[in-house]
Amino acid sequence: MDQLTSEDLQYYRSLDWIFKVWQPSPALIEKKAGNARPFVGQSFDPAYFDLVQDGWTHDHCEICFVNLSDDTEAGETDGYTADRQWICKTCHAKLFPPSDGQAS
Ligand SMILES: [Zn+2]
Repeated sequence: MDQLTSEDLQYYRSLDWIFKVWQPSPALIEKKAGNARPFVGQSFDPAYFDLVQDGWTHDHCEICFVNLSDDTEAGETDGYTADRQWICKTCHAKLFPPSDGQAS
């Protein structure tokens, strides 16, 4: 967390994080390079991309980069999400300390 600027903290705190179990989501897989990008209904050229329903296989915590996936052996399997970004429970707890009443 030390590497975050106060602007970063303000930005992350301003987002509306929702606790969720991580689940795979659709992705477009580039046929040639194998790169995945999230599929959110955008148009694509099937000559260059395959639409794979569970092709988005993991995310990373925006802050500590821990792996978030449905694989219990590969890191976290749930966390907080907002605007297609994910943070882990540990970072969420640091962003939103339960006893923050003293801070002004
Ligand atoms: Zn984290």
